[in-house]
Amino acid sequence: MNTLKLKKGDMVVVMKGKDHGKKGKILRTFPDLKKIVVEGINEKMRHTRAKRGGQKGQRVAVTHPVWAANVQVLCPSCGKITRVGFELHEGIKSRVCKKCKASLS
Ligand SMILES: [Zn+2]
Repeated sequence: MNTLKLKKGDMVVVMKGKDHGKKGKILRTFPDLKKIVVEGINEKMRHTRAKRGGQKGQRVAVTHPVWAANVQVLCPSCGKITRVGFELHEGIKSRVCKKCKASLS
């Protein structure tokens, strides 16, 4: 069951870990793992080895998933760190900001 309240495209703020306080946009969600990939968050440098034939080794930033529980949504309407609530409109569940009640689509 998809229990993640976060969606691709949401702006989130990291609340824990080395990227504490950083903001970013969700690039991918993994509902089964309760993890998400956030732009610019939890980046690790991967070093590729120099190959024979003169090609140099490179450093490539790879973005790793973080726990969805360690981030909070930044509401695009009120600009506050908030939690996601649900509201029913004519049988359709929509996500809303718990602070200003604006729809998060
Ligand atoms: Zn809001």
